[in-house]
Amino acid sequence: MPEGKIGHIIREGPTMTETRTGGCLCKAVRYELTAAPIATMVCNCTNCQHSSGSALSTIALVPRAGLAVTGELKGYEYAGDSGGKLEINFCPHCGSPVLLNIRNMPDIVSIKVGSFDDTSWFKPTINIWTHSAQAWLPEIAGCQAFAGNSR
Ligand SMILES: [Zn+2]
Ligand SMILES: [Zn+2]
Repeated sequence: MPEGKIGHIIREGPTMTETRTGGCLCKAVRYELTAAPIATMVCNCTNCQHSSGSALSTIALVPRAGLAVTGELKGYEYAGDSGGKLEINFCPHCGSPVLLNIRNMPDIVSIKVGSFDDTSWFKPTINIWTHSAQAWLPEIAGCQAFAGNSR
């Protein structure tokens, strides 16, 4: 039996599907993600609603070491609903929010999932700040819901 070869396929398999690309609307900002997301979630906080212009943010938390960004991002720092410092990063040309830096989690980047070229893999498992969710939103299947952040 080609035990070595099967072992090789199992070891190599997952890494082959883990490159994900994305960027802003005008394509001045592009990124390549070569690490698997750590967590997938949606956030209903009022800051996410204002900065996205939408009902909620779709978020993939990824290791900073696995993300390479090209092009210029502009940052805007604000206090999150939990009090921690957050910095939304958007394209200065087209205004699309691309990612968020969380000051007390420097090794992690929060990517706005709508910026990925292919979002078909995304399935949120955590739903945070539901107490400020827009009233029309249905319950999101498969998500663990939290009234505030995940504490
Ligand atoms: Zn842009
Ligand atoms: Zn939020």
